[in-house]
Order: sequence, then structure tokens, then C-alpha cells
Amino acid sequence: MDFELNEEQLMFRDMARRFAEQQMLPTLKECMREERFDPGLIKKFGNAGLLAPHMPQEYGGLGLDYVTSSIIWEELSKISLAMTQAALSGPIQPGTNLLDAGSDEQKKKWLPAICRGDLIFAGAVVEPNAGSDSSLTETTAVKQDEGWLINGNKIFITNGAEADLVIFTAQTDKSKGGRGIASFLVEKGTPGFSQIPQRGKISWRAGSEGTLRFADCRLPMENQVSPPGRGLRDALRGIDTARLFLAAGAVGVSQSCLEASIKYAKERVQFGKPIGGHQLIQGTIAEMAARIEASRWLTYRVADMKSKGLPHIKEMSYAKWFSTETALWVTAQAVKIHGSFGTFDDYPVGRHYQDIITSTILGGTAEIHKLTIGRQLLDISAFT
Ligand SMILES: Cc1cc2nc3c(=O)[nH]c(=O)nc-3n(C[C@H](O)[C@H](O)[C@H](O)COP(=O)(O)OP(=O)(O)OC[C@H]3O[C@@H](n4cnc5c(N)ncnc54)[C@H](O)[C@@H]3O)c2cc1C
Repeated sequence: MDFELNEEQLMFRDMARRFAEQQMLPTLKECMREERFDPGLIKKFGNAGLLAPHMPQEYGGLGLDYVTSSIIWEELSKISLAMTQAALSGPIQPGTNLLDAGSDEQKKKWLPAICRGDLIFAGAVVEPNAGSDSSLTETTAVKQDEGWLINGNKIFITNGAEADLVIFTAQTDKSKGGRGIASFLVEKGTPGFSQIPQRGKISWRAGSEGTLRFADCRLPMENQVSPPGRGLRDALRGIDTARLFLAAGAVGVSQSCLEASIKYAKERVQFGKPIGGHQLIQGTIAEMAARIEASRWLTYRVADMKSKGLPHIKEMSYAKWFSTETALWVTAQAVKIHGSFGTFDDYPVGRHYQDIITSTILGGTAEIHKLTIGRQLLDISAFT
């Protein structure tokens, strides 16, 4: 067991820090105020080689293990988890889904362009009436002589409005529930397929989400990725990777808030001494630090298991649930330590506080992860 970061990990951590400070921070505040994501950031990540750390080199990724990839996410998210997710999401959930389930032809055709940042890729599972329970998918795929006829709606899709390519799930036989679900690729501009931005977010305003509509959209046979019965399972493998990076991102958010709080607590004087000299503030900072350490090691541990190909369902839920809920608590403490200054977006703690709630929801809510852990421990499913 080695708890030290190796030279390569330190190098990627520094590289990610420099990139985030130079390419993300300068536009972050304005993007959040204007509820705007700059898709050009995806190409900048591609040029820097940081867009797809975990993807195999043969498809244009860095081929890094999941611990090193998590360290990169942690560092980028110290500036903004929302912006990191918006920029890197293509190679993660949808990218991993295509890598696992796509044909050689599909992978060669699409993955290199996705990993370079030449093509925006989105993954669409969630629907207005199918959130945590994706077996309720209502989008239908009806097999026809020369392909598939698609009808339905997807919602909350990261980069859904901008995506050049989307991998999505659809029901081929309602009577089979989750076992009837297949997955398909659809390109921007396909007749019957529309992409609509979703406005009015209170969180992740520097990211972009959209709804997708399929109205008698015809897709050729070669656009099928997973056959009926495998669509949901294969999508969940992509979501597993997204969960890891959301956990790592939450660690970065928490760490950024801790560092800002320590600095502020040393500088801000009230009642004749720095507020960091008051015992209640010290106690809060100590608790923040200890909880962040626990989040980090839960995350690195499951990243290591995933790299080694070990089963890790329970451990992924530990990391995703604990790290994001910890970050929710840590960001709130950090804002309180900064007093009213913390409630303005000039301070990183205010921006993190605004954003963090979202990471507790996507990639599985806290409740879903607790039930997943419970099912593993008790061998009884509370889902059915
Ligand atoms: C910024 C953002 C980006 C997103 N990007 C994508 C994307 O790219 N692709 C995609 O497919 N989706 C995406 N999503 C959707 C996201 O994955 C879903 O919102 C999430 O899975 C939860 O679904 P829901 O919102 O329908 O909540 P619901 O499932 O309706 O849950 C509502 C509440 O009920 C609780 N609950 C549900 N079931 C149970 C249970 N059995 N026991 C106890 N409590 C329960 C939940 O924990 C939650 O608190 C995104 C969402 C956001 C906010």
C-alpha cells in the first residue's frame, strides 16, 4: 500500500492546475453570471491533451489509470467542477459507453474525434418520467425494414443542445422493462431529431444542459450500439466512470474551500484576533479537513479497484455519496467562515457552494447510492 503520489501523478496534477488557472478561471465568473458554457473550451482541453485522460491511447486518450485521472479531475474541479464536467463529459459517460459497447467501426469512426475535442458527444438516458429508475424509459425504438423509428424525449442532457453526436437509450418492448432497452447513436441535424437548450439553472450555470426530442426520427441499422436488453446495462458502465470523476471533482471542490477558509481565517480579524484563533472556527476547519481526507481516500481506493478491474459497486457508491455530500457540507461551512463576503461570486467558496448541489444529484442521488450499498451489504434489494 503506497499513499504517495508518483512523479507522473504530480506532473499531471500540476499540468491540470495550470490549465484550470489559465483556461477556465478567467471566464468562469462571467460564464456563471450569464449562464453560458463555452464549447470552445472542449477543443482547448483536447489541444492540451487533457480531454480524455482515461481513454485508451489508440482512440486518442492518454491511457492513464483511474487514480491519475481522478487526480486530474480533483485539480480541475478546484476551479470549477461544473465547467470540468461540461468540457470533459463527452469521453466520460457516453465515451466509456461507446468504448465498451460500440462496434470496432463505430469506435474508430467517432472516438478519436471525441477525444481530440473536434466533436461534442452527449449521453442521454434520463427522461421526464424516468430519472433514478431508468427502466421506466418511455422513448420508443420500433424496428422497421431498414432501421429504427424513434419517438420520445430526453431531459437534463449535458451538452444536449450543442452535441454533434448523442448516444441514447430507448425502449424496444415495454413489456420487458429494463430488459427491452437498447441504445443508438444520432447525429445533429438528423430529420426528426431536435436539441433544445434548458435555461434557468440555479447551479452549474457555467455548464450546459438540454432536452432532446425525437419525432418519427429514422435511424439506420448501423446506428444501433447496444442490442435490446443491453442498452441500460452498457449505459450504466459509462455512468460508473462518471460517478468516479464526480467523486474526485467533489474532493477538489472541498479542498479548494478548505484552502480558501484557512487563508481567510488567518486574515480576517474579529474580536481582537484572526477568526482562525477562535476555537469554534478551528473546530470547523479541523472537521472539514478530516472529512475531505476520508473522501479523497474513498475515491482513490475505488479508482484503484476500477483500474485493476476489480468489482467495486459498493465502493463506488461509498465514494460518490460520501464525497459529494461532504462537499455539500464543506462548501456551506466555507461560505459561513467567509461571512457575507462568501455569499458573493468573487470568492471561490461562493461559486462552489452554488454549484455543488448538482453533483449530489446526477450520477445517482445520495438515496440511490445508500440503497445500492444496503443491497450489497444485506443482499436484499430495496428497489423492488
Ligand atoms: C446538471 C445536470 C446534468 C445532467 N446530465 C445528464 C446527462 O448528461 N445524461 C443523462 O441521462 N442525465 C443527466 N442528468 C440527469 C440526472 O442523471 C438525473 O437528474 C438524476 O439521475 C436523478 O433523476 P431525477 O432528477 O429524475 O430525480 P428522481 O429520480 O425523480 O428523484 C427525486 C428524489 O427522489 C429520490 N428517490 C428516487 N427513488 C428513490 C428510492 N427508491 N428511495 C429513496 N429515494 C428515492 C431521489 O434520491 C431524489 O431525492 C443531469 C442532471 C443535471 C442536474
